[in-house]
Amino acid sequence: MGISWLMALLPGRRFLPALLGLALLLAWLPPAVGAAGEAKQPLVYFGHGGQGTVSGSLHVLEHGPDLYLIDVGTFFGGAGANYPWPEDIAVDAIRAVFITHAHADHLGRLPLLLHEGYRGPIYMTRVTYEIAEVTMPANLGFADFGPERFYYSRHNAGRSRIPVYLEGYDFAAQTVRPENRVYFTASRSRLSADGYYLARPQRQKLAQELRRRLARQVVIVDPGKPVPVEQGRLQATFLPTPHIPGSAMVRLLVDDHSLLFSGDVGAGSSPLLPANPRLKNGVDFLFLEGTMAYARRDGDLGRQRSRFGRNIGKLATAGKRVVIPAFVLDRSQQVMFELGRAIDEGYLPADQVIRVCSPTANQLLELYDDFAGRLRRELTAANHEKPSLSPFFTPKMAGAEFLPPGYIGECAGEAPDNPLGLEPGEIGIMASGMADFSAARRALLDYLEDPDTVFYFVGYQAPDSLGGRLTAGEEPPAVLKIGDERRRVRATVKHTGAFGSHADPAATERIFAATEPGKIFLVHLEQKRGKQLAERYRRQLGSEVVVPRPGRRYPLTED
Ligand SMILES: [Zn+2]
Repeated sequence: MGISWLMALLPGRRFLPALLGLALLLAWLPPAVGAAGEAKQPLVYFGHGGQGTVSGSLHVLEHGPDLYLIDVGTFFGGAGANYPWPEDIAVDAIRAVFITHAHADHLGRLPLLLHEGYRGPIYMTRVTYEIAEVTMPANLGFADFGPERFYYSRHNAGRSRIPVYLEGYDFAAQTVRPENRVYFTASRSRLSADGYYLARPQRQKLAQELRRRLARQVVIVDPGKPVPVEQGRLQATFLPTPHIPGSAMVRLLVDDHSLLFSGDVGAGSSPLLPANPRLKNGVDFLFLEGTMAYARRDGDLGRQRSRFGRNIGKLATAGKRVVIPAFVLDRSQQVMFELGRAIDEGYLPADQVIRVCSPTANQLLELYDDFAGRLRRELTAANHEKPSLSPFFTPKMAGAEFLPPGYIGECAGEAPDNPLGLEPGEIGIMASGMADFSAARRALLDYLEDPDTVFYFVGYQAPDSLGGRLTAGEEPPAVLKIGDERRRVRATVKHTGAFGSHADPAATERIFAATEPGKIFLVHLEQKRGKQLAERYRRQLGSEVVVPRPGRRYPLTED
């Protein structure tokens, strides 16, 4: 409703303020949802990530002129482009953003969205927020913001790795004097490949800015409690699922439609996270992840996890050097939890040296340790008025050990042939999970020819990754090509699926059967696996199943 028709009806100047006030009030009121005569807005779904691929989750719900985003993730590898921001998602039309969990493929493009000018609310659970506060700033140096202007000091020219600063930041003349600055244009995500890195003060400044924005825009939601969004036009409920700490599905009610975005559905294998719910409320539209498209063949994950601790115990006490490539978020901490259990059960000595080679993994270990301490206090306190962590963890979390006595939060050796400093008998938890980057890749270069080293892979290994090439067959290959270098494989290679974090199809059916979804959009899976899984859910859940394509619009309501 505009104000112009009011002007035409003006009975006299003295009524103007009152009428204007009324008009403003009416403009603020939400439309009467479902009231007779009130036209409901058409509802459309489209997405720019997670359609026919397992990364980059970005789902858009269009309600008339308003847009709601569910997850804003980054693509991995060649799965899609993280820049520019998709053209058909007008940033000023976005009314709210919902984040299911803290994995980068679900929130990694949030800094870009903020950069593009989004100032509205970002809904997430408390635990997701606390994890994001650690991981998001850490990823800023690699995030894709398109071409930006950088400068470095001409005194650093020719060095193998050159610290750079972003144009527009004043780091005082003494850091790099204006007359010494050499400017160039590049994409932030390319810096490292080109021999540059963001200087520490620059990284700190960016991190500080991002944290300030998050603090202003993030709205913490309690699990299970419906929250009104956009003056009640929409209602959102976060439903925890045991994928990683804080992870939740998001249920939205809009007009009289119910939509459920599953995010990543937990496998339920972590002893630290509560079991999956069996959802009861009916769902019109289910946006369901299909990462784990086949039945889990590895059976009882719980038993496998205990076996993992025992195996590592045997190897380390026999003097083997044990390298565990692991994802920085959650996997490294889960591994540490199992090593802590192995210490408790006597499979490892209390002072077993465990090095963790990743600054972010170390910060997250401290955060998990803090979660454990806070949960302990919460469970033992006389008043349970504000149970902020209990809904996210089992009581086991309260007794978990993430910083055992032999823990060392860095990897650096004196000897030139052992830069990571991992000695025989020591355990190293190393980024990255498939050994393509960082310390784990370094470890392959340094230790793969050493028969007294064991590489213990603890998660899914993409076929073309270094980990994938080592673990694909019954036996590892005789030689591994690592970039331009080659190594003979003399070390032992092991692989466990014990830390699987996605529900398989049978578990998924148990969780969602009672919601009797009218229509399922199968997302977060490879297109070629879609057909078979769609057929299965059509049969088992009796729903219409669609595998959506990126960018394509799917009307959810009749015109
Ligand atoms: Zn995830």
